[in-house]
Amino acid sequence: MKILRNKHEMAAQFALWKKAGLRIGIVPTMGNLHNGHLSLLDVLDARADKIITTIYVNPLQFAPDEDFNVYPRTHEEDFAKLRETGKCDAIFIPEQMYEDGHATTIQPAGVALGYETEFRPHFFEGVATIVHKLFQQTGADIAVFGEKDYQQLQVIKQMVTDLDLSVEILASPTIREADGLAMSSRNGYLTPAERQIAPILYQVMQETADQIRGGKPVDTILSQACRKILASGFSAIDYFSYCDAQTLANADSHIETGMLLAAIHLGNVRLIDQLKV
Ligand code: AMP
Repeated sequence: MKILRNKHEMAAQFALWKKAGLRIGIVPTMGNLHNGHLSLLDVLDARADKIITTIYVNPLQFAPDEDFNVYPRTHEEDFAKLRETGKCDAIFIPEQMYEDGHATTIQPAGVALGYETEFRPHFFEGVATIVHKLFQQTGADIAVFGEKDYQQLQVIKQMVTDLDLSVEILASPTIREADGLAMSSRNGYLTPAERQIAPILYQVMQETADQIRGGKPVDTILSQACRKILASGFSAIDYFSYCDAQTLANADSHIETGMLLAAIHLGNVRLIDQLKV
């Protein structure tokens, strides 16, 4: 497993692989890897000849009041986990991604509007810009993203279509802890008491999904769900919505392509989750 620490080392490696006619798959991450991240490599295993995991905590997608400085950086542990999968051919862990004077960004609209963007206005600009740079720097033919960050996945698909990028995008299902909590690097910020409360979010999402399938008006179901979430000890709800999984437009009754999207605060931690309905 190679460790590539800047775009020149990366370029030299991918040139060799391309020359040999190999198909390059990438797994973009911010590190602090858990089984959710590692499951993304399984998805690529049969679809790529070489797999690169990228690790970069991208300052452009953090607001000034967010956790950029304290975001967990656990490189040695991450390397060991990736080595253990036996599936990772290279780790691309650039120290610098933005040259001095960097001034060009990608501004997604469409599916980027609403939900996350209402609360983190510059988030998808940061995500789209770094993902585009990573595609360029790694020579990716295929890339995989988690459905857990569902709106992000849709934003990336839209960027690939809109900018005619020749990278195939795969989606991978959300991996959960045994009690249903979606795995996330930020779960480590939860206090023991909050960790007990956290799985209630997924329980409420499952109950809500059953009720939507049962045909009750979605408005009523979502209001009840929000009351239950707040009564369970969560501190605030950014959104808890039912929408079409392709367009992300709100749906007011059950649809074949329905999806619940949630972003909820628990103490100082913001949890996001999704569930197909
Ligand atoms: P992050 O390091 O949080 O930026 O995530 C990197 C990639 O891992 C993104 O495509 C995420 O959607 C994906 N991911 C994070 N958590 C999970 C999970 N619990 N299940 C599946 N994919 C995940």
